Amino acid sequence: MSLLAPRSQLLNDLNAEAYRRSVAEGVERVAERLAGTARPFTGVAPDQLAPHITAVDLDRPLYDSAAALDELDALYLRDAVYFHHPRYLAHLNCPVVIPALVGEAVLSAVNSSLDTWDQSAGGTLIERRLIDWTTERIGLGEAADGVFTSGGTQSNLHALLLAREEAKAHPNRLRIFASDVSHFSVRKAAKLLGLGPEAVVAIPCDRDKRLQTVALANELERCAADGLVPMAVVATAGTTDFGSIDPLPEVARLAESYGTWMHVDAAYGCGLLASPTRRSLLDGIEHADSVTVDYHKSFFQPVSSSAVLVKDAATLRHATYHADYLNPRRMADERIPNQVDKSLQTTRRFDALKLWMTLRVMGADGIGRLFDEVCDLTARAWRILACDPRYDVVVEPALSTLVFRYIPDSVTDPARIDRANLYARKALFASGDAVVAGTTVGGRHFLKFTLLNPETTTDDISAVLDLVAGHAEQFLGDRLVHAS
Ligand SMILES: *Cc1c(COP(=O)(O)O)cnc(C)c1O
Repeated sequence: MSLLAPRSQLLNDLNAEAYRRSVAEGVERVAERLAGTARPFTGVAPDQLAPHITAVDLDRPLYDSAAALDELDALYLRDAVYFHHPRYLAHLNCPVVIPALVGEAVLSAVNSSLDTWDQSAGGTLIERRLIDWTTERIGLGEAADGVFTSGGTQSNLHALLLAREEAKAHPNRLRIFASDVSHFSVRKAAKLLGLGPEAVVAIPCDRDKRLQTVALANELERCAADGLVPMAVVATAGTTDFGSIDPLPEVARLAESYGTWMHVDAAYGCGLLASPTRRSLLDGIEHADSVTVDYHKSFFQPVSSSAVLVKDAATLRHATYHADYLNPRRMADERIPNQVDKSLQTTRRFDALKLWMTLRVMGADGIGRLFDEVCDLTARAWRILACDPRYDVVVEPALSTLVFRYIPDSVTDPARIDRANLYARKALFASGDAVVAGTTVGGRHFLKFTLLNPETTTDDISAVLDLVAGHAEQFLGDRLVHAS
C-alpha cells in the first residue's frame, strides 16, 4: 500500500480530477445500495456490528478511496436504515429529493460558512431570500426575519430565548404553555434557558390531540392571578405523534389578550406551506411571533435544514453579540449582512442551498404535491386501520402519522397487550422487513406509522399490518399467521 501525498487530497484546482472521481465513486456506491435494497433494514444488532467498527485501526489508513468505500460499504451502507424504502414507516425522516443532494454536494465542497458575509457572500443573500420566501408563505408581514438552524430543537430554543428576553421578568416567574403532546424540546429549552422546573405548563388536548383552548385560557388566568408571567404560548402545527394541529386562531387570540409571545412549532407541519390543497390547515400561523420549520421533515430535504422565523426582526437582537474578530458593531452600521448577528451558531453550514436548488428545479408546488400525496395515503391507510378488527387507531390523521395498537380478541389484560405491541415492533425491526415507531397514549404502548414516502402504497400498509399482527400473535402464543 503506497503512501498517498496528503496534498493530493486537498480540494483545489490541481486536484479537481481526483475530486470528481472520488465523489463519483461515493455516489456510485450509494446508488448501487439504493438499487439493491430489498428491505429498509437488515436487522443487524449493535453487538453484531460494533466489533467490526472497533476493529478498524484508525491509525493505519488505507491510502485509497475505493478501498475505504469498500470498507464503508460493509460497515455502514449495507446495514444502514434506508428512509427511501416504502416500508420505512417509523420516524419523521423523509426520502430526499435529488436537487437537494446536488445542493448538498455543492455546499460542502465550496464550504461557505454563513456566519459572516466575508465567508459566504452570495450564500448569505440566498439564505436571506429563502427566509423571506418562508415568512411570506407564513404571512408574517413586512418586518419579519429569521435564520436557518440545525433543526427544530434549536429553532424552538432560539424562539423561546427571544420570548424570555421579551418577557422581562425573573426566570422563576416565567411560564410557557404548550399542549401535553408538544415536542419535548420545549421542556429542554426551558431548562437550558434557566427557567424553573415548573416553567412548562402542559395543557390537555381534545379527542383529536389538539390543545384545548378553554384549558389554556384557564391556565393563563391562573398564571396571572398567581402573579406569574406568561412568557410564551407554544402551539404545535403538526404534533410529532399525531400530526394534530392546535387551533391556531384561538391560541393567537389568547396570546394576544395576555400580551404573550406566540410560538408555532411547525417543525412537522411546515410542508403545508407548499401544499396546493391543504395550506388552510395552517390558517392563523400568520399571528405567530415566531415559527419553527423543519425543511428536513416535510420538504424532503436532507438533514440538516431548518429555520426559525420571527414576526419582528428587531427581536433577533436578543441573540446578537458583536465579536471584534468576526462581526464588530461597525459592520452592522455599514449594513454588512452578517447572519451570525441573528444566529445561536457561529460557523454554520449553507444548508439553505439545498432548499434553493429544490425550489429552482421542482418548485414549491412540486414539494407540496409530494406532501399532499403522503397525507392522502395516510387518509386511506386510516380507513384500512379503522376497518381492521385487529387494531385500535387513536385519531383520524390531519397529516401523515397513524398511532394504533394491536388488540387481540382473546386477550383483555392491557399490560399483556402492551408487551405484545412492544414485541411486535422489536421483532419487525429485527426482521428488517419494515420499520415502525412506537409511543404511549394514556400510559399504554401504541405503534406508529409516520408516512413521508409517496412511494409507499396501501398494499405496503396492509402487508406491514399483517406482519405486525403476525409477530404480536406469535408473542401471545396464538396461531402463527404467515404474512405475505
Ligand atoms: C421533530 C420535531 C422537533 C425537533 O426537531 P429536530 O429537527 O429533530 O431537532 C420539534 N418539534 C416538533 C413538533 C417535531 O416534530
